[in-house]
Formats: sequence, C-alpha cells, structure tokens
Amino acid sequence: MGWTHDEHPGHEGYLVATEREANGTWHEVRYPDDQKRPVSSLLVACDCGWRSPRLVAPMGSMWFPFIVEIPERYRERAHELWRRHFDSLPDRPTLSAGDLHFEWPAG
Ligand SMILES: [Zn+2]
Repeated sequence: MGWTHDEHPGHEGYLVATEREANGTWHEVRYPDDQKRPVSSLLVACDCGWRSPRLVAPMGSMWFPFIVEIPERYRERAHELWRRHFDSLPDRPTLSAGDLHFEWPAG
C-alpha cells in the first residue's frame, strides 16, 4: 500500500492526515472511531518515524480508515518528498581501501 524502496528496506512511506485540536495542538488522524472526512492538512510519513513538515492538503484530499487519498496529480510529488528523506539518513558504513590494507607495527 505504501511506498517502498529496494535500497532502504525497513522504510515504508505513506500520507498522514493531521487535524488541529481546540487547544491548538495537532494530532495525526488514525483512530478507529475517526470517520471518513476531508483533509486540510497532511504529512508525508515513514515507518522509521520520519515526518515531513506539515503541508496544506490539496483540494479533494480525503481520509478513509486508514489511508489518505490525494488527487492523482499530487501523488508523485508526495512520493518524491518521501524519497528525499533518504538523503538525510546517516551514512551507511562502507569499506574503504584503508580498511583492507594497513601496516603491522614494525617490531
Ligand atoms: Zn524512513
């Protein structure tokens, strides 16, 4: 259902609707008793815990238990935002030539 990336197993991207409470705090819409509704604000999210900045939802966005549907023409853009969070991941360990060749102390 969500976006996946061959080089980054363990990450799955999706959209999350957010709503503002009366007290001004925001919550993510994801509860079983939340009903189908228009979405005015959303985040691009990832299973790893990453969240995009809050975005104004395109007109026509809807939340259904438990997915957010946005108009077709915005989907690629949302996908791109998710893919971009890989750019900010810590570098994966890689072997360099120096790891494979070192001098034993003389002696
Ligand atoms: Zn991720």
